[in-house]
Amino acid sequence: MAEKKIPFNKTQLENIAADYPTPFIIYDEKAIRDNARAFYRAFSWVGGFKNHFAVKACPNPAILRILQEENMGVDCSSMAELLLSEKVGFRGEEIVFTSNDTPGEEFAEAYRLGAVINLDDIGHIETLEKSAGIPELISFRYNPGEARTGNVLIGEPQEAKYGVTRDQVIEAYRIMKARGVKRFGLHSMVASNELENTYFVETARMLFELAVSLKQQCGISVEIINMGGGIGIPYRPGDRAVDMNLVSGGIRDLYKSLLVKEGLDPVKIVFECGRLVTGPYGYLVGRVRHVARKYKEYVGLDACMANLMRPGIYGAYHHITIPGKESLPADKVYDVTGSLCENNDKFAIDRPLPVIEPGDLVVIHDAGAHGYSMGFNYNGKLRSAELLLREDGSVRLIRRAETIDDYFATMRFPGAPVKI
Ligand SMILES: *Cc1c(COP(=O)(O)O)cnc(C)c1O
Repeated sequence: MAEKKIPFNKTQLENIAADYPTPFIIYDEKAIRDNARAFYRAFSWVGGFKNHFAVKACPNPAILRILQEENMGVDCSSMAELLLSEKVGFRGEEIVFTSNDTPGEEFAEAYRLGAVINLDDIGHIETLEKSAGIPELISFRYNPGEARTGNVLIGEPQEAKYGVTRDQVIEAYRIMKARGVKRFGLHSMVASNELENTYFVETARMLFELAVSLKQQCGISVEIINMGGGIGIPYRPGDRAVDMNLVSGGIRDLYKSLLVKEGLDPVKIVFECGRLVTGPYGYLVGRVRHVARKYKEYVGLDACMANLMRPGIYGAYHHITIPGKESLPADKVYDVTGSLCENNDKFAIDRPLPVIEPGDLVVIHDAGAHGYSMGFNYNGKLRSAELLLREDGSVRLIRRAETIDDYFATMRFPGAPVKI
């Protein structure tokens, strides 16, 4: 079972909040590094193992630099993510470009960077060729359709907009081989926030079997198998984290029985995990403004859905700790809200918590991935700062909070000179 602890006590957090007003997201550097190392240790049997961190999960250069130091690559899906990765110093095949509905200029940029381009559709071959050219190495995203069941967050594969189908996949590789491609990758991502260990072993089986088919039917030796992201994290105290050693062991057995047997060894196995890498190690910290009694009791924070969308859009559970009150009984029931004029602006509904008073700090767990990055400006809300809790206990500002000038920056006020 997951233990929902926080890496600071109330006094430490009050000290941080004295320097950086709430709300903010704070990332735990040591925990990110320890987890990255454990991930790599679990797959140490794979030559050239890499996790290409999904930039969309946490697009902050300081975090990306830490992950680079831990030997990770990046997974990008947009121009901004490619440019950000380049600025941080990622190069060539450290970058995977897994996009969909992709414009030509993004292919051109990925090509210029020497990224591994992962095509989402047969029709994209033409866009790639026109905008950039055919690279030496190409990969396709495979969507197995009814051959696999999906999960709640991403839905059933046959309903998903991603990837080439079972009928298309062999043809897709044949076309690329005929166009002169020399090196091949293969990718799939069919689940999101999945906690079932065997799911990932089964994804490996599916991809390994497909690699064997590609060898037999097209004479292609796939050299990179990309398992995608989607490894879940234990958001709820009752959840159990994915056992990466178990997953790795299962994949290793299949590697031997399917790939080695077919003479496909060595194949580089990679992932594109985002959530697993930073999710549990980022905390949204807000302060209670009001406690209101209506038909229910509400705790109103200075943070809102603009800082963390997941509860509002997916009904996702995020654990909440009230620093200094950890050992008090959770004998009150509250809805914990923000100040948006949207009734789904709630971090928690009917959550048992200790008695809360205005001024209390509130820590919302597991905001390190798909947290800040999903933020928005609805209702004129400004995105918060991001902080890094360093290994020596010091705190560094790694992104300032937005100001009202940022909010106004794109507007053209009546009478102002027209600029494009
Ligand atoms: C979102 C996404 C990821 C990362 O997903 P996580 O749940 O953060 O691991 C990886 N690859 C692709 C193609 C994605 O769209």
